[in-house]
Amino acid sequence: MIVFFFLFFFFLQPSSYAEGELKPLRCIIHLHSDWSFLSESNSLETLAEWGKASGVDVLIFTDHALVRASWGLFPFRRTLHYTEDKASVFKKGTERYLLEIHQLQEKYPSLLLIPALEVAPFYYWSGNPFQGTLTLREWHRHLLVLGIEDPEVLKKMPLLSNPYAHPFTFLGNRLFFLCPSVICFVLFGYLRKRSFYRDEQGRSLRYTSKSLRWVEYSFFLVAVLFLIESVPFGDPFDPYHGDRGAAPYQKLIDYVNAHGGFVFWAHPEVEPASSDSVSKGIRIVTEPYGYLLSLTRDYTGFAAYATGKGLIQKGGDWDQLLMMVCQKIRKSPIWVMSETDFIGGFESFRLNETVVWVEERSKTGVLKSLREGRMCAVMNTRNEHLSLDFFSVTNEEGKKGGLGEEISSQGKVRVAWRFRVSQPTYTPWVTLIRSGKPLGTFPVKDGEEAFFDDAIEDPKPERIYYRLEVEEPPFLTNPIFVSLAPRNLLSEKQ
Ligand SMILES: [Zn+2]
Ligand SMILES: [Zn+2]
Repeated sequence: MIVFFFLFFFFLQPSSYAEGELKPLRCIIHLHSDWSFLSESNSLETLAEWGKASGVDVLIFTDHALVRASWGLFPFRRTLHYTEDKASVFKKGTERYLLEIHQLQEKYPSLLLIPALEVAPFYYWSGNPFQGTLTLREWHRHLLVLGIEDPEVLKKMPLLSNPYAHPFTFLGNRLFFLCPSVICFVLFGYLRKRSFYRDEQGRSLRYTSKSLRWVEYSFFLVAVLFLIESVPFGDPFDPYHGDRGAAPYQKLIDYVNAHGGFVFWAHPEVEPASSDSVSKGIRIVTEPYGYLLSLTRDYTGFAAYATGKGLIQKGGDWDQLLMMVCQKIRKSPIWVMSETDFIGGFESFRLNETVVWVEERSKTGVLKSLREGRMCAVMNTRNEHLSLDFFSVTNEEGKKGGLGEEISSQGKVRVAWRFRVSQPTYTPWVTLIRSGKPLGTFPVKDGEEAFFDDAIEDPKPERIYYRLEVEEPPFLTNPIFVSLAPRNLLSEKQ
């Protein structure tokens, strides 16, 4: 009986994904609560209530891990500094944040509540406060860290200004500060020695000149300050030497991957206007940073719809990156998702949605699908009149690949899709894109399956991909890859 049960169970397991086996879940990614700076008005519970009321399935909370920036006076940057440390998860308690979401999950079983963090691994300073030109730069280059729930691992993330960042790096050039430290100690010793004299009875006494004593103490203090600066361990990135390019971000991505998590770039097309502000006389500026998508590797994807649609243009940056994946110049594919970046107000709560197709309705199921690209990015869901039933590519043998998957083919495939349009008076148009180039634009009819038979001419590239895009209302699928290796090569591999 038990054997029978196991056999039965075994045969029930799907061998690969096919139409109908995956369930779509409506997911809101990038939400801030009162755990974050600037979002003090909404508790996690308010967000869960709103999620329940608006009928979505998944909420991914991404409060700020750390909102701390520090400006130090040269050469004593480690001791004489001004630091701003706003509300954040690290500041208020990482364990408590995770626990609160866990408890909320029990209270709201109809929702899946997933904790994640938004991080700023780097920033740098330009100008100086004495001329009123101090500027905090690139603070808003943000990434979303998902899939890690160990507070100790989270707290050690390599973020500039994170005192627990791990591991420390040996910084040989800091030993340079030993020179002025030694000089000051010697001068202090010399002055101190000079200030003693012996009287007629041979007793050791001290001159009582106050100003001389101040000079003496000052040398001692400066010697200690230099000594602190000379400790040769710390973060290899500091905010005083300009932009460090991709390096601090790559370090964060590598750290998260090494601990079993994954990373999405948040709002890479941040509008300079919205991130150009002045706080306490300090200007805060972040330029759009979409180019960092090509300079970093091994991240999972990026947010397509938040502040711009430049990266997802046909043949644009995203297509270029996917082409590199096809050519095996890049190892891992880059997926798109849609983020809300919610900081307050119910009206903006469901601005953007990511629809995730899952094998099982669980936190693990959602995270797995997000990693594997089984999702679509949807913008402005208040319109609510377009949803995807399926998108697939079928090869000559009838093998089907879905979102984020890869199938092999000799060169003839059928690309098929079906949408739901809840507003009958409106006909959206969908564009089928093959490796960055549009193959055609088709009207979308409610519930009607559409297909496109494609034949790839010689010389065939090693790998291609298909994706769908609707411009209005904005809707984007992740790609389906097709490897076009010749049959004998494929069978050799197997
Ligand atoms: Zn952000
Ligand atoms: Zn945010």
